[in-house]
Amino acid sequence: MQRKREQAARGLDGVGYFVLCKLNDETVKNADAVGKKARAAFVEFPNWRRSQNELRHLRQKVTFAIFAEEDDLAKVSALVDSIFSVLQRPERRNLASWRDKDQFKARVREWSDKLGVHVRSLAVRPMRNKWASRSTAGNLNFSDDLLALDRELTDYVIVHELLHFYVPNHGKLWKSLMRAHLGDYERAASKLKAKARNAQQA
Ligand SMILES: [Zn+2]
Repeated sequence: MQRKREQAARGLDGVGYFVLCKLNDETVKNADAVGKKARAAFVEFPNWRRSQNELRHLRQKVTFAIFAEEDDLAKVSALVDSIFSVLQRPERRNLASWRDKDQFKARVREWSDKLGVHVRSLAVRPMRNKWASRSTAGNLNFSDDLLALDRELTDYVIVHELLHFYVPNHGKLWKSLMRAHLGDYERAASKLKAKARNAQQA
């Protein structure tokens, strides 16, 4: 159960981000705190897409979370309606993917700040046979296939690429920097290789 919840929580980054944007758009007070409560409700009811009962409980929790900061009940229910109508739209996959793209880019920025790498331009786009590419001028491209992968694997690709700004090869220095920042990075590397092999066979 605990594991299931954790998995659900990881899959919720896009939903959480979307809800937070909506709260900010509607200038709900303490949007961060409300967003956290809403996100916790999504974790609590992971089957809300399939179960009417869970959906009802979830909507109720989200409504209360917003109502705690916003007195206008009509506004609150309109906002909840709007959030759920977007999340329940069949084409939500597209929406999820651009949200993920922004989040992914934010992750790259986080790492580049941490590693002190100056990234001039950053793009996430379809790429063939590669997870990432970079120019010496500081332009970075990442494959949009990465958006579907675990954080452990995407972090590996991001740090791998950023460290090449300092070390162009995969020698001792690069390896020790990888280890310093990611710990057991070989595990991610081999998982990623397996993914690439499966993708080629598919
Ligand atoms: Zn490399």
